[in-house]
Amino acid sequence: MTKGNINVSVENIFPLIKKFLYSDHEIFLRELISNATDATLKLKHLTNIGESKVEYGNPQIEVKIDKDAKKLHIIDQGLGMTAEEVEKYINQVAFSGAEEFLDKYKDSAKDAGIIGHFGLGFYSAFMVADKVEIITKSHTDAPAAHWTCDGSPEFTLEEADKTERGTEIILHIAEDSTEFLEESRIRELLLKYNKFMPVPIKFGTKTETLPKPEGAKEDDPAPTKEVDNIINNPNPAWTKQPADLEADDYKNFYRELYPMQFEEPLFNIHLNVDYPFNLTGILYFPKMSADLQIQKDKIQLYQNQVFVTDNVEGIVPEFLTMLRGVIDSPDIPLNVSRSYLQADGAVKKISSYITRKVADKLKSLFNNNREDFEAKWNDIKIVIEYGMLSEEKFFEKADAFALYPTVDGKYYTFEELTNAIKAKQTDKDDKMVILYASDKDAQHAYIEAAKEKDYEVLLLDSPIVSHLMQKLETTKEKISFARVDADHIDNLIKKEDSSISKLSEDEKTKLDELLKEVIPSEKFMVQLEAMDSNASPFMITQPEFMRRMKEMQQTGGGMFGMGNMPEMYNLVVNTNSELVGEILNTKTKKKQERLINQSLDLARLSQGLLKGEELTNFIKRSYDMIK
Ligand code: ADP
Ligand code: MG
Repeated sequence: MTKGNINVSVENIFPLIKKFLYSDHEIFLRELISNATDATLKLKHLTNIGESKVEYGNPQIEVKIDKDAKKLHIIDQGLGMTAEEVEKYINQVAFSGAEEFLDKYKDSAKDAGIIGHFGLGFYSAFMVADKVEIITKSHTDAPAAHWTCDGSPEFTLEEADKTERGTEIILHIAEDSTEFLEESRIRELLLKYNKFMPVPIKFGTKTETLPKPEGAKEDDPAPTKEVDNIINNPNPAWTKQPADLEADDYKNFYRELYPMQFEEPLFNIHLNVDYPFNLTGILYFPKMSADLQIQKDKIQLYQNQVFVTDNVEGIVPEFLTMLRGVIDSPDIPLNVSRSYLQADGAVKKISSYITRKVADKLKSLFNNNREDFEAKWNDIKIVIEYGMLSEEKFFEKADAFALYPTVDGKYYTFEELTNAIKAKQTDKDDKMVILYASDKDAQHAYIEAAKEKDYEVLLLDSPIVSHLMQKLETTKEKISFARVDADHIDNLIKKEDSSISKLSEDEKTKLDELLKEVIPSEKFMVQLEAMDSNASPFMITQPEFMRRMKEMQQTGGGMFGMGNMPEMYNLVVNTNSELVGEILNTKTKKKQERLINQSLDLARLSQGLLKGEELTNFIKRSYDMIK
């Protein structure tokens, strides 16, 4: 029997481990199962290259709770350790055997999938146990070894009689950690961290129903059998080649990742690179809702099939954190601060690779089946618009597939849109005016008026679209966006109809004075326009600039610092309309005022600006008029 001191520089490392190293004590299980997995994969590698003579077989890892004795066992059938190896790898803390193994088998073991250190590794066991035992039998002829340590730097090491190869770790769970003796808690941890680890993990047994024997009666119970309960899927979809997977495999994997999610994903993107960094994964586009915040943190980050975190901030570009799925990369440095992560060169490359891959996939979906892409647009636009705003590279690529739907359900790319409107929708300064509505019902009258003129009207209703329009206006040449009820539409109308006016200059002056007497000047800027006689007599518009700034203030968290802008509207009066002629020709001032007020209220009503007492008065007045 050997006795000795564990070689650590800090006098007593265990209290430290317990208190400071991890806020999450639960990760001890991830560490121990990672070690068991490594031991198994190392043996696989050694048998592959002929350095181990044992039969590899179908090794598993078993996790066993002994509640009465307050023990947790983690048992593997990996390569095991000799007593010398225990001395070296366990007793010399901070000596990572994984690193040494990878170093020794540099060329052949690169792809063996060995996990190695995440953090403290084996010693994290002392976060939950006050005594730990290792009983291990090497795959070589060396006798088995039994190591025991009670949480002080002293350990014992003696021979053991274990005959089958592999390692058993026994944790004597501490008084304050008895939660780890609960089956439900351990199951939860196994499902969280080890659900896709490459070696099968057995946890208890389950009852399996067998087919009924030949000639069994109708109500004979089907025979059952107790079988190993394997908790993980060692071959998750992302570790396979895209060519080997069908559409259904991707859907099934989504179900496996999100068992509580009933909606199917819209499409998936399989990530697969091994140079200049190693990254695999599958990302899914779910149906998006307008609420951006609640959809975050659904992407899971793995390293060699070990779950690390579901906060991928800094690794995945911000706009893609709304996606779901899995990213697996051994090249992402862990246990570093997020700000360090963002500055890391490898991580930057990974992030821009993901962006490019997502853009390419969207483009190919658009090219291969435009109809389907259009049908999904509403559910994905928020991600794409957000991406266009936040990532310049993505903005450039998105030009090929970003869609601009019209109120009639037509979908244009930006290029198609400008081709469609070029001839008819240019203003006085030869700028193209892209008309849009944000709410089909609320802006119905204006949409109809624009359609009457044969203008195209887009339906742009996502919450960040005003920012996107601003960006497009500054990037593209000679275009501007104008909501159907904005003042830009006047420019378009003016351009066409300015020649024909029914009123004389005298009449115009008279009308102008009359209107200014009745209509409050602090709320409305009166504009006389000679428009089509069928167009509305009174129409309220708001300067596009003013309204959009307000919208951006609301969705941009005050990033423009504009303060509160006053409510100011234009009142466009159509001097060619019959009603305006009638107002002018009405004899008494009182009647004229009544007509103007009623018309103004109708214009306000159609903009949704008539509310409260004013609305009540209007309705009362209208009834009086018709009775
Ligand atoms: P790392 O996994 O980064 O090497 P650990 O502290 O987790 O660091 O483990 C230290 C070393 O102990 C391992 O590299 C390995 O050589 C050895 N070891 C730990 N657990 C096992 C095991 N179950 N079977 C064989 N060797 C093990
Ligand atoms: Mg380890």
